[in-house]
Amino acid sequence: MLNDEHIELRKSVEEFAREVVAPVIGDYYERCEFPYDIVRKMGAMGLFGLPIPEEYGGMGGDYFALCLALEELARVDSSVAITLEAAVSLGAMPILRFGTDAQRQRWLPKMAAGEILGAFGLTEPGGGSDVPGGMRTTAVLDGGEWVINGSKAFITNSGTDITGVVAVAAITGRREDGRPEISTILVPSGTPGFTVSKKYSKVGWSASDTRELAFTDCRVPEENLLGERGRGYAQFLRTLDEGRVAIAALSVGLAQGCVDESLRYVRERRAFGHEIGHYQAIQFKIADMEARVHTARLAYYHAAERMLAGLPFKKEAAIAKLVSSNAAMDNARDATQIFGGYGFMNEFPVGRFYRDAKILEIGEGTSEVQRMLIARELGLPA
Ligand SMILES: Cc1cc2nc3c(=O)[nH]c(=O)nc-3n(C[C@H](O)[C@H](O)[C@H](O)COP(=O)(O)OP(=O)(O)OC[C@H]3O[C@@H](n4cnc5c(N)ncnc54)[C@H](O)[C@@H]3O)c2cc1C
Repeated sequence: MLNDEHIELRKSVEEFAREVVAPVIGDYYERCEFPYDIVRKMGAMGLFGLPIPEEYGGMGGDYFALCLALEELARVDSSVAITLEAAVSLGAMPILRFGTDAQRQRWLPKMAAGEILGAFGLTEPGGGSDVPGGMRTTAVLDGGEWVINGSKAFITNSGTDITGVVAVAAITGRREDGRPEISTILVPSGTPGFTVSKKYSKVGWSASDTRELAFTDCRVPEENLLGERGRGYAQFLRTLDEGRVAIAALSVGLAQGCVDESLRYVRERRAFGHEIGHYQAIQFKIADMEARVHTARLAYYHAAERMLAGLPFKKEAAIAKLVSSNAAMDNARDATQIFGGYGFMNEFPVGRFYRDAKILEIGEGTSEVQRMLIARELGLPA
């Protein structure tokens, strides 16, 4: 499935992650600081424009190319990988897929260059798994403007100095059957009535930006509606199906990073007269880690292949996300164990991998939600 361009891209991102990200990211992480300098360099490489058509300033590649870049970044660090994932998969792709040409022209070239970041505001304090049930944010048309009231929780990339726009899912009415009508509205950063809280203190992804958002009589022009009114639910389902393939790729990268670091360490560290890699208990652990990465990678390649071929891929995306986030968690635990006490020290990447792995079982749909999706695709009742 990898063509020559994919292979070349993977190599250049691997080098970038090793040479540019790895030496400095630990300090950003410790300081919980957003790595503007690295993000600027990622922009210069074209990473934010990978699946964006050239007419909008992108690289004209495919979504699989984005996944490969995410995997290589996450082998070294997940904060920069999730910054890219959220900016492209959640920020730019909905505008590309559902936006008007004017919206695309306005936002995509700067997004593709990494000059501004987009964010996707779906989750609310009242719940992320049951989105329609937990949604309270409303948008009402008044004098040619949407008036938005409500709040959003845990929104990635929403409060950086270069955040340009947040796509906000809001209830815009009631359907005949009483269900909420949900639409997506683009809210530029700095719009009066839109406030961004200070960064959360997080267990992991510490060099990424995650905030709570508040909307108080926030007014934006009617034409900021993304696509059709009432299509918000379908839009975010599609966005999340794609996003799960990307999160699976990111998870595979973290799981691979655990293998890379462990292989290096077991050849250096000695105990009882041998390198610890001499012992079968360690070898079996690494063999299991490698098997998990391998199967998880095949799962996301397969989901991406179906997606690019225009085939249904909801089940495959859910399976890929489920197995790869499991692989990331299991590999992070095993790698930390292999490193012994040093695995618990922040100066070694495996400590970061351990802290970063857990969110992969939660973000863009928890593992329980993935199981629900798989069961539904198998015809079991909702
Ligand atoms: C660092 C970070 C970044 C994020 N970035 C974004 C972002 O950019 N944009 C955005 O919109 N959201 C974002 N999120 C939100 C994320 O997608 C949600 O946290 C996630 O979907 C889970 O929602 P919740 O936290 O409300 O948990 P809840 O929905 O309250 O779930 C709590 C628990 O109950 C389980 N559960 C719920 N329903 C069922 C059921 N029917 N059966 C069995 N178990 C069930 C869940 O699996 C979970 O274990 C982010 C979250 C984090 C932590």
